Amino acid sequence: MSDLLVFLDNCPVCGFTSASATNCPGDLNRAGGWRYLQPMADDLKLDLSELTKTIDVYQCVNCQAHYLNPWFSVETRNRIFLSGHPIHNMGWSNFVDRIASQEKPTMPMQTHELIDAVESKIGNISSYAELGCPFMGLLLRTSPQNEIKNWLRLSRSFGAMPPASFKLLPQALVDYMSVSSWSSNLAKIISRLRMRKRQISIGRTNPIVPSRTSIQERYFLSTPSTKSWGLNCSGFGESCTSVAHTALGAKVTTLSDLDSAENRTIDLIGIFLMLDHQDSPLELLAACLSKSKGVLVLTHGGPFSVQHHIGLGETFFTNLPKLIPGLRVDRIGSKESDVMFLLYQHSDR
Ligand SMILES: [Zn+2]
Repeated sequence: MSDLLVFLDNCPVCGFTSASATNCPGDLNRAGGWRYLQPMADDLKLDLSELTKTIDVYQCVNCQAHYLNPWFSVETRNRIFLSGHPIHNMGWSNFVDRIASQEKPTMPMQTHELIDAVESKIGNISSYAELGCPFMGLLLRTSPQNEIKNWLRLSRSFGAMPPASFKLLPQALVDYMSVSSWSSNLAKIISRLRMRKRQISIGRTNPIVPSRTSIQERYFLSTPSTKSWGLNCSGFGESCTSVAHTALGAKVTTLSDLDSAENRTIDLIGIFLMLDHQDSPLELLAACLSKSKGVLVLTHGGPFSVQHHIGLGETFFTNLPKLIPGLRVDRIGSKESDVMFLLYQHSDR
């Protein structure tokens, strides 16, 4: 088991010594997120209930982040996210729901309310970038459905999808997925697709009218991580990064390719339930703030489940101005245990 899990001497978020971290067992959900871990456990013939008993949760006294210690080695993370469970369930479920004209993803606020709230604090948002997973936030919410249908046409013309009329497409998707992207999530997505077959069929679908928005330029920031699916996960035999471009109409680029805030190309960067999947979340936040007027983060409030190394709850965000000088953190809204924060620098405006 020692090769599976590694102990850290320092906080994985800020680097402060873990010797002074506070053990807080009530903040760990040991039974959560097993769907992501089960293929790895099956492969290695491990009992997950025994394995997770050896994992503890601590809160850093410096940055207030929670983190699991020990947690999975890089090799085990690869087994979990790349070979064991290469699809991000929540993201692709949102995408499938969006094809079926559902207003997804679920967020604490309606799209126009959220954009109004953000614009009231940092000004007009004409350019927007999302980081982590393209199906978790405003990128999917603001995608016109005709762009998604263009993706369906492109996928067929490139041969990535089997030939099918739109009328037959839902079943074609099911057939295609059953041979090309097997995962523990498959049965769930198949049942969703079958349930919505009638909704998806052309002619019977009510098109989604995108919410009123000032966003003109949309980007997806490709960001590699060992604590999630590398550069991207995959579904329907395609990478989520390519679908961000072909279906959601986003320009795919990297954070380092964006201009700095002085001469910025981006007004707002969104990170929805994906900051806790990043290798260096604090550095990433600082980099995002140097490139934009503001960063919108949706975060799990806890208790934290075992597929996440770190838990970034409310105390982490309210403490952030101590770590990033001049930072302002506003709580924008919440839904169940998820909380949304807007981070931006103080200005003289
Ligand atoms: Zn820390």
